[in-house]
Amino acid sequence: GDFPIETDTIVIGAGPGGYVAAIRAAQLGQKVTIVEKGDLGGVCLNVGCIPSKAMLQASHKFHEAQHSEDFGVVTNDVSLDFSKVQEFKNGVVKKLTGGVEGLLKGNKVEIVKGEAFFVDENNLKVMTEKQSQTYTFKNAIIATGSRPIEIPNFKFGERVLDSTGALALKEAPKKMVIVGGGYIGSELATAYANFGTEVTILEGAKDILGGFEKSMTQLVKKSFKKKGIEIVTEAMAQKAEETDNGVKVTYEAKGETKEIEADYVLVTVGRKPNTEEIGLEQVGIEMGERGLIKVDEQSRTSVKNIYAIGDIVPGLPLAHKASYEGKVAAEAIAGEKSAVDYLAMPAVCFTEPELATVGYDEGSAKDAGLEVKAAKFPYAANGRALSMNATDGFVKLITRKEDGLLVGAQVAGAGASDIIAELGLAIETGMTAEDVALTIHAHPTLGEISMEAAEVALGTPIHIV
Ligand code: FAD
Repeated sequence: GDFPIETDTIVIGAGPGGYVAAIRAAQLGQKVTIVEKGDLGGVCLNVGCIPSKAMLQASHKFHEAQHSEDFGVVTNDVSLDFSKVQEFKNGVVKKLTGGVEGLLKGNKVEIVKGEAFFVDENNLKVMTEKQSQTYTFKNAIIATGSRPIEIPNFKFGERVLDSTGALALKEAPKKMVIVGGGYIGSELATAYANFGTEVTILEGAKDILGGFEKSMTQLVKKSFKKKGIEIVTEAMAQKAEETDNGVKVTYEAKGETKEIEADYVLVTVGRKPNTEEIGLEQVGIEMGERGLIKVDEQSRTSVKNIYAIGDIVPGLPLAHKASYEGKVAAEAIAGEKSAVDYLAMPAVCFTEPELATVGYDEGSAKDAGLEVKAAKFPYAANGRALSMNATDGFVKLITRKEDGLLVGAQVAGAGASDIIAELGLAIETGMTAEDVALTIHAHPTLGEISMEAAEVALGTPIHIV
């Protein structure tokens, strides 16, 4: 017999949304159960953010080892042991996923392995290979995440890879075609080009990295060119055919049909929310566009004791968004007044240079009817950037015209992923450009670029005229 097990809050999916929600709910006194059909840590820890950054770091090391002549560092016979790269990456993943398990247990969250689906708005069935177990819950948080989109005539297989496949290769290929120049495609293009792979990106739109402004993507394109990455824009990928030892990709660009042969083709054209086979129709949860679940500002669905967070709800599909929404949902369940506010949520692309944005940029501010001023300071005028030989880039601050309130920032350049944190904090706490300018920044650091950009906003920069 299947005797239902009772719990207060059940979380479905243990990615950065689900496991964070589970821990916060437990901290707030709930009896929590988390159900995961795959590996703890979800996409982010196992096949997303973390392994991709480990690979990128290894690729930088390899590239730098070969290209540090400007510093007077001369190296001969640099070689790559790709199985060691994989070993490093897998080790990082294992450490983190093991850490998540420890954290869940430490917070007395019950971990259940299996696939969950809703029976009704208070019962969930969890299927393991042989059994099924019903859980009766007061509240549920859905955090089932997303998976890569497959396009027609590019069936994922041995030579047609999704991002997961591209992170698990046994060696750096000679040639790779990447369909889709979004942030995942561009990061993996960077990594493999650094490893010595000849990379071609086929992008359907007019430009790669849509969502970041031109002055930023331009810097990435410049570095792509240097690395030998070829970009074909307005290219429609038509089919992939496996050959004896590779793949032939057919695409159309400028009205012409073309073919390229490569060892692999990686398809990164977007991700699809996992909202189909979890019984949402049993509970009558209201859906939005593209399979996303509709939620309010407390991450609550149309069914009042069921919440949804992360890649399955509208907004940017990013790990820190999932975690943030997870905390809000757990707090809402505990009766707190928490609600989401995305203004200070950053988005980062880990290319070379890194691109980071938070709050409004000039375009979105205009669309929102805000009167703003943009103030920009270049890396090339910063001592630390010069001494790092990393002079490509800028910090741009977006301030409200009437009072100088900081409402956005864009950073392109070395360390942008960290620099953006200070600017996010400044926005979150309601600082003006003057507050940032008055903050003493250590010298020589890249952080000074933000301070100087704030000085530009005030009209009194020291290091440019
Ligand atoms: P997921 O991480 O997708 O986790 C969902 C979990 O739910 C999975 O473990 C799944 O097995 C489980 N599940 C699904 N259905 C069921 C079910 N019915 N029963 C039980 N369990 C179920 N984001 C960033 O912020 N920064 C980055 O640098 C970054 N890099 C990325 C690189 C790559 C290559 C990829 C693919 C993604 C990257 N992302 C990055 C995006 C990030 O990984 C996702 O936004 C994030 O993982 C979403 O978290 P989530 O909790 O919503 O879902």
